[in-house]
Amino acid sequence: IWTNVPQGPPDPILGISEAFKRDTNPRKVNLGVGAYRDDDGKPWILPSVKKAKEILINANLDHEYLPTEGLNTFRQAAALLAYGNCPEVAEGRIAALQALSGTGALRIGCAFISRFYPHNKIIYVPKPTWGNHKNIARDAGLEVREYSYYCPTKKGLDFERLLSEIDEAPRNSIILLHACAHNPTGQDPSHEQWAQIHEVITRKQHLAFFDTAYQGFASGSTDEDAYGLRYFVKEKSPVLLAQSFAKNFGLYGERIGLFTAVTDSSAETDRVVSQLKILGRAMYSNPPLYGARIVSTVLNTPELYRQWQQDLVTMSGRIKAMRSALVEKLKEKGSPHDWSHITNQIGMFAFTGLNAEQSQTLMTRNHVYLTLDGRISIAGLNTKNVEYVADAIETVTRN
Ligand code: PMP
Repeated sequence: IWTNVPQGPPDPILGISEAFKRDTNPRKVNLGVGAYRDDDGKPWILPSVKKAKEILINANLDHEYLPTEGLNTFRQAAALLAYGNCPEVAEGRIAALQALSGTGALRIGCAFISRFYPHNKIIYVPKPTWGNHKNIARDAGLEVREYSYYCPTKKGLDFERLLSEIDEAPRNSIILLHACAHNPTGQDPSHEQWAQIHEVITRKQHLAFFDTAYQGFASGSTDEDAYGLRYFVKEKSPVLLAQSFAKNFGLYGERIGLFTAVTDSSAETDRVVSQLKILGRAMYSNPPLYGARIVSTVLNTPELYRQWQQDLVTMSGRIKAMRSALVEKLKEKGSPHDWSHITNQIGMFAFTGLNAEQSQTLMTRNHVYLTLDGRISIAGLNTKNVEYVADAIETVTRN
């Protein structure tokens, strides 16, 4: 019966990891997938997470189902982390559903829009954006369009076009915004630019859907990385939010996230949550326990919270150091190009400006793996391989 099922294309990002695994060269470097690595190139269990796990083991907890909306202590602490101390949190005006990491939160959010948003089903995503956004929105029944975000020649935001294209979008469109550490470009709006984005979104009565997958990971400060989101909320604009705890807690495989919608009243919150639960129940019934318990323990234990803030600085600090080291080494090798965009960008990725052909050459000739759009995960660099990678990049960009 399945003879007519065509072979699907490999995922552009996960396919790179597979090619990396097959490569037997000992010098190979994986800069494809966005997962943090320590200076030895190993996955890092955050000290705060390690302590939380010890607490959980000693508590000898059972494995009963969570309610469909998720672990209460997690939902509350996670919403507070994103929105900060604000009237919306205090008045019970944040409708929250624990979700299967950022992807699951986006999927629940898109399904909620698809079922209940009264105006249209059009979602605008930045061009470029994280590769999965379009799949998620389309599979939830939304029409996906793009707004300009990045200018490859300027190697910065294409801000005038961004504003005019959001302005030209049909009234009441959904506008997806990366809250911080834009993936793949590493370019975020400044505080002034957030205000301008807010102005056009409000004037056109669009609805902002924030995706925050790197809170605390970008600048090292969880408040600074929530600036855009909190600005919208402070200005009383309705927002939707998908939160991931994969990167900032190193809990990738635990699939821990949260979807929230700011509502007009606590009664509206109850109604929205009741519908989010109906969506979640039909998709996976109940969310996973372990990641929720870990994040909740860290966020709700002052000593662990302080440790976590330090862990974030450890990760973001190492990434910043690697950005500088890469640019330094490229200069040392005599590269005539301006690489300052690499140190100006933030978050896990650098958008190098390498084209598809140069990126492919890096993989086949130099065993350095990256996505064909020239994006590299800085987290894959360390003091032992940065020189080798700089050398390889210098070679493929030499004219
Ligand atoms: N949004 C963005 C912008 C991302 O970069 C990612 C992870 N690469 C996600 C969402 C979701 O990741 P996860 O589902 O693992 O939380």
